[in-house]
Amino acid sequence: MPRPIHAIIHQKALAHNLAIVRKTLPASQVFAVVKANAYGHGIERVYPAFQSADGFALLDLDEAKRIRALGWTGAILLLEGIFSPQDLYDCAQYNLSFSIHSPHQLEWLKDFKTTAQFDIFLKMNSGMNRLGFKPEQYQQAWQILKQLTHVHSITHTMHFSDADGTRFGQDGITAQLEVFNQTVKDLPGPRSLSNSAAILRHSDHVQSDLVRAGILLYGSSPDFPAHHIRDWDLQPSMSLRSEIIAIQQVKQSESVGYGSKFVAENDIKIGIVACGYADGYQRISKTGTPVLVNGQRTRLLGRVSMDMLAVDLTDIHHVEIGSEVVLWGQASTGEILPIDEVAAGSETIGYELMCGVTQRVNFQIEQ
Ligand SMILES: *Cc1c(COP(=O)(O)O)cnc(C)c1O
Repeated sequence: MPRPIHAIIHQKALAHNLAIVRKTLPASQVFAVVKANAYGHGIERVYPAFQSADGFALLDLDEAKRIRALGWTGAILLLEGIFSPQDLYDCAQYNLSFSIHSPHQLEWLKDFKTTAQFDIFLKMNSGMNRLGFKPEQYQQAWQILKQLTHVHSITHTMHFSDADGTRFGQDGITAQLEVFNQTVKDLPGPRSLSNSAAILRHSDHVQSDLVRAGILLYGSSPDFPAHHIRDWDLQPSMSLRSEIIAIQQVKQSESVGYGSKFVAENDIKIGIVACGYADGYQRISKTGTPVLVNGQRTRLLGRVSMDMLAVDLTDIHHVEIGSEVVLWGQASTGEILPIDEVAAGSETIGYELMCGVTQRVNFQIEQ
């Protein structure tokens, strides 16, 4: 028997979450962001559930080619654009749309000889200061692109730094939205602004003809703890499940695990779970991080080891060797442990946990 840990990808949840975006923004095109191997889910595993998306967005050419290999003929957007002039041959061959975020990319495109027609996402740096043309350079870049015979369309693009919260004590989007709108106001062409947080929190005042939905599709709330997935009606699309492989009675003042970080205040019953940091569970998770055993909520105890962790079984009913443990996601009986709550136990975000499940964990698809 293999170790009992596995990650289950829930097709229904993925499709449900995409439908939430459609319902929120019926007039927008929706690109499903599947970078980082679909946020750790596996591109091939999420693809069936995202067939009704208007396009896919990602970073790696190899991932784009994998989507073409699945039979997808619609739009694919490279969010960081090309990394070298040679990438343009692949963009032409595989019909890929791409961002242009810098003068050097613009030069490469200008010098490229092709019969292909590219759909370009011209990126503005409206305040995040990662990628994009500053507002004062943006119009000139647009003029240059517009004159290129191998440019078919130009979508005005920006990315919010704080759509999930506030910025400098104000709401998180107004200032950057203003910069963007001012700069593009006289330019024709569609606009692409919103990520998950902007879709959920700001769709009433951000006009985004094309949205780039990422984390929400995977059932994590972009602004947890302000909002819980149930506030947005999202469902977890990945469940990390394992089993109890040993049970110990621990007496008062005995310790649990490496470093004796947890010391029992009373006599307690604990369970050892086949899951550790080598599976992608964060080692720095604190005692108290929530876990489900047999669908009942309990807590992590002591230090996470490479292959195991300990949980409190004191108040858990009917527990035995082989009882189901949910580290995040859905229990087979339907109880939900949002990945966001688990991420909070190690001061990170759902994104990092779902991207970090390791190679040795067996993935399964649930229809
Ligand atoms: C990752 C990414 C997104 C999706 O962000 P989420 O917060 O996961 O919705 C959108 N746009 C760009 C440019 C990105 O890099």
